[in-house]
Amino acid sequence: MTAVATRTGDPATCDAPEIRVERGQREVFCGLTGIIWLHRKIQDAFFLVVGSRTCAHLMQSAAGVMIFAEPRFATAIMEERDLAGMADQNEELDRIVERLLERRPDIKLLFLVGSCPSEIIKLDLSRAAERLSTRHLPDVRVLNYSGSGIETTFTQGEDRCLAALVPEMPAARDDVPRLLVAGALADVVEDQLLRTFEALGLGPVDVLPPRRAGALPPVGRNTRVLLAQPFLAETARALERRGARHLPAPFPVGVEGTRGWLEAAAAAFGIAAERVAAVTESGRARAATALAHYRDELAGKRVFFFPDSQLELPLARFLARELGMIPVEVGTPYLHRGHLADELALLPRETVLVEGQDVDRQLERCRAAAPDLVVCGLGLANPLEAEGVTTKWSIELLFTPLQGFEQAGDLAELFARPLRRRARLKV
Ligand code: SF4
Repeated sequence: MTAVATRTGDPATCDAPEIRVERGQREVFCGLTGIIWLHRKIQDAFFLVVGSRTCAHLMQSAAGVMIFAEPRFATAIMEERDLAGMADQNEELDRIVERLLERRPDIKLLFLVGSCPSEIIKLDLSRAAERLSTRHLPDVRVLNYSGSGIETTFTQGEDRCLAALVPEMPAARDDVPRLLVAGALADVVEDQLLRTFEALGLGPVDVLPPRRAGALPPVGRNTRVLLAQPFLAETARALERRGARHLPAPFPVGVEGTRGWLEAAAAAFGIAAERVAAVTESGRARAATALAHYRDELAGKRVFFFPDSQLELPLARFLARELGMIPVEVGTPYLHRGHLADELALLPRETVLVEGQDVDRQLERCRAAAPDLVVCGLGLANPLEAEGVTTKWSIELLFTPLQGFEQAGDLAELFARPLRRRARLKV
């Protein structure tokens, strides 16, 4: 397809690039960050971070412009006397929750989200959630998960949140095969993909997370799970424990990934790839036109990914195969070999893949490689920009609808824009 597309094919037989593992200092947001997109997805949920002022500041600055009159997240700030063990934190937490639920009757699902401080003092949020659920059900369900920086990076917050929902899902009937799309997608993308499944005659299709807390989808032995995001290892394990089976597929990023993702679902429901091709023809044509516009601009440009969102592999595959970019190094915090098998098989063999992070060594390699574009977290972007390196903030890729055919052009634009900005600065 492009100059750097060295391989296609069968993930089982293709030799994927070698994966290096690095352990060292990390420069990644903690899992609290996921609240920023999750609170908009589950519209009657509320996320109460049990944390410190640092956690509150992270939420404020990451949410920044998105804070509106009645936000659906907040931080119960643990003061020094809490941390010193002088106060009964459970009593204080109960009081805060009572006040919150009294003031906000619209809340139907409350997440108590653990943080570094709550973990350090070993505040048992699962017991607190049980206690509060008993008190407030059936009106409000209370669940907990950890978004602490000790345990989670950035997108793992979503994984922990969805995994916490799985035990609450009702049991599905064993005689009806169902498709479950797991992973938060922007509503507009979710609607497009659901319309495509409908046009394929594929169903019933459920989504996790649902838009309403009371609409948790059923799960059982006849549930096939199609992951919409590559960072859902724990959620997939929890679903498998409920009998569901994971469908191997590439991720729905770009034309090739979206088509492969739809084909994997279709095949599991006995629908031929030709039918997928026919149903998606116009969407693919629109995406091809949109991408052609960017190929001249991006082909041959070298891109370096620091580990951040776990979206790095599907993005690198898209940039290489559909836009002719050259991924010199692709770092990712965690790499699930099973869930990413199809992506690994499609990446150029020359690409250096690094799982984990040793930020100083990665910075050295990045400077030596002198890529045209670096995709990284906010903490690294500013210093690199000061050195004259062109960067793209990876967090933006989580906030932007990017999956599916209709979004392929917008996704290419996200990578083209910083290069254009840098070219203008040079003039
Ligand atoms: S959870 Fe930990 S890493 Fe995240 S903001 Fe709070 S203190 Fe910082």
